[in-house]
Amino acid sequence: MNHHTDTLTRKAYAKINLGLDVVRRLENGYHEVRMIMQTVGIYDVLTFTAAQSGIRITTDSGELPVGEDNLIYRAARLLLEEGNVSVGVDIHLEKHIPIAAGMAGGSSDAAATLLGLNELFALGMPEERLRQLGVRIGADVPYCIMGGTALAEGIGELLTPLRPAPQCVLLIAKPDIQVSTKYVYEHLDAGNAWQHPDIDGMRCAIENGDLSGVVARLGNVLETVTIEAYPVIDRIKREMVSGGARGSLMSGSGPTVFGIYDSREQARAVRDNLERQGLARELFVTEMQHAVS
Ligand code: ATP
Repeated sequence: MNHHTDTLTRKAYAKINLGLDVVRRLENGYHEVRMIMQTVGIYDVLTFTAAQSGIRITTDSGELPVGEDNLIYRAARLLLEEGNVSVGVDIHLEKHIPIAAGMAGGSSDAAATLLGLNELFALGMPEERLRQLGVRIGADVPYCIMGGTALAEGIGELLTPLRPAPQCVLLIAKPDIQVSTKYVYEHLDAGNAWQHPDIDGMRCAIENGDLSGVVARLGNVLETVTIEAYPVIDRIKREMVSGGARGSLMSGSGPTVFGIYDSREQARAVRDNLERQGLARELFVTEMQHAVS
C-alpha cells in the first residue's frame, strides 16, 4: 500500500456452496451447519477514503440501504470503534454480486470493509481478530475474510481451509425472485428429516483434486424447501444439465443456481438459452477463485 494515499480499493468476492448440510437447530434459533464454501470470480468493488468524521456510504445499486442497515456500515462502525480510530470514512460500493441470492454478497462486503479499513488506518489487527469481529456481523463473514475453498462448521464460523477445488467453468444464474433465508430455515425445521449430503466425501474429493467426485457429491439440504416454493429453480437446474453441465446445484438458501461445465462455449450457450427463456436475468460465466486479495 502507498502510505501517502488516503484511498484504498478492495474486491469483495461472492461464494457458492458446493455442499450444504444442516446438522441441527440450536436453542438460539441458529443452525449448526457443515458447508463446503468456494469463492467465485464475481465481485463487488469497495473504495475507502478517510474522512473527517462519520461513516458515509454511496453505491451504484438502487436496491440497497446506505445507513446502519448496510452490513458495510456495521463493519466500518465496529472496526473504527475497536481500533480507536478518531476520524471517519467514506465508502463507495460498486455492486455486481446478486442481492439476497445465497452468494454472501453482504457478508463479503462486510469482510472487505474490515480488511480494507484495517489496512487504510494501519491498525495491524491480525486476521484472527478480524474474523472474531466479523462473526458479530454475520456467520459467513469470517469465511469471506479467508476466502478460497473451505469447510465451514458451527454456525459457519469454524473454518478449515481446503486445497483449492479442481478448476472448471461455472455458469451462475439468479432468477428474478426474492428468497428469505428465514423462510427457508423455518420450513426446513417444520418438514421431515432430510437426506444429508456427503460433506466428508466432498472434502476428500477436493483434497484429491477429483472433479468427478466433487460433482457426484453436490448437495444442498435447503434445495427441497426453496424449490418447492419456487419451481423455476428446478427448471434452471434441468436446463443447465441438458445443456451439458456435469452437475448443477442451488447455492445457500437460494435462489441462485450454478452449473459446472468443461468449456466456456457450453456455459455461454446455456446462459443465452436461460436469458432467452426469461428464466434468469443475472447470469455469469466464471470460474472458481483461489486467491482473494
Ligand atoms: P447469504 O448467502 O449470506 O445468505 P445473500 O446473498 O442471501 O447472503 P445478501 O446479498 O448478503 O444475501 O443480502 C441480504 C440482505 O442484506 C438484503 O436484503 C440487503 O438489503 C441486506 N444488505 C445489507 N447490506 C448489504 C450489502 N452491502 N450488500 C448486499 N445486501 C446487503
